[in-house]
Amino acid sequence: MDYKVIIDEIHKNLRETDNPGKVAEYIPELAKVDPDKFGVHISEVNGGAYGTGNYRDKFSIQSIVKVLSLALTYKLRGESIWSRLGYEPSGTAFNSLVQLESDRGIPKNPLINAGALVICDILISILDDPEQDFLDFVREVSDNESIEYSMNIAASERVAGYLNIALCNFIKSFGNIENDTDQVLDFYFKSCSIELSCEELSKTFLFFANGGQKPGTGGQVLTVSQVKRINAIMQTCGFYDESGDFAFRVGLPGKSGIGGGIVDVHPGKYSIAVWSPRLNKKGNSYLAMEFLEQFTTKTQMSIF
Ligand code: GLU
Repeated sequence: MDYKVIIDEIHKNLRETDNPGKVAEYIPELAKVDPDKFGVHISEVNGGAYGTGNYRDKFSIQSIVKVLSLALTYKLRGESIWSRLGYEPSGTAFNSLVQLESDRGIPKNPLINAGALVICDILISILDDPEQDFLDFVREVSDNESIEYSMNIAASERVAGYLNIALCNFIKSFGNIENDTDQVLDFYFKSCSIELSCEELSKTFLFFANGGQKPGTGGQVLTVSQVKRINAIMQTCGFYDESGDFAFRVGLPGKSGIGGGIVDVHPGKYSIAVWSPRLNKKGNSYLAMEFLEQFTTKTQMSIF
């Protein structure tokens, strides 16, 4: 399959269409991003790779990191993590407080903010130096020592982080946060601030397309079964309360972030990252979703 021709054609056509989306502004630092950036990069399990547009520009991956923090926690703690959080779609906004009360502080899944906060708490309890150890894990799976947290973005989110602060305290009141809430929040904000380009992001997620193994290196990051489960969670919970629509239109597991990035995985074939900062009303990148819908339609390949 010649992905290059298809990617170039869709990218060119979409560049010229009207984009009704809006850049996320609740994190002041993110509002400064050029809204018209548009990059795409595919990394294939067999070693092929191709990118177009702003695919080498770094952007804030935000919630996409939740998949990586889940991966490390699952690797270290196995099935025991499911006593602290669930794996059902929430059907509510990513930062909703509502369900937590009836669910007695057990978040619906690891890809909403509440679940990601519990995952950060578990990592703090088991790692010697959580911020450094997590960064080392991301660097290792991506084969990229240059990956860093963005202190500016983390600080900017901290200042405006009222809802996340409320979520963390609310969960703690039910006894499902073990550590100091400030420590959990700092780690959460820092993890969300990691910056990657589409090229780096698609490469980082390739092990989810390859049964848990980093292609070419033989390094097994997760078991086949763990990757199956994380891919299932991405499929059902990866796109806020638009995950059903995303599955319907695109048909691939993945994760989006309010920085405008989306990464998708086609098991056995590839990982693809698309970035365009203008978001639709549900918080997913308008253009990235359009791109991916056209991509799976034109290639006639999805998981369904
Ligand atoms: N750091 C962001 C927040 O907690 C992540 C949101 C997202 O990308 O969905 O609000």
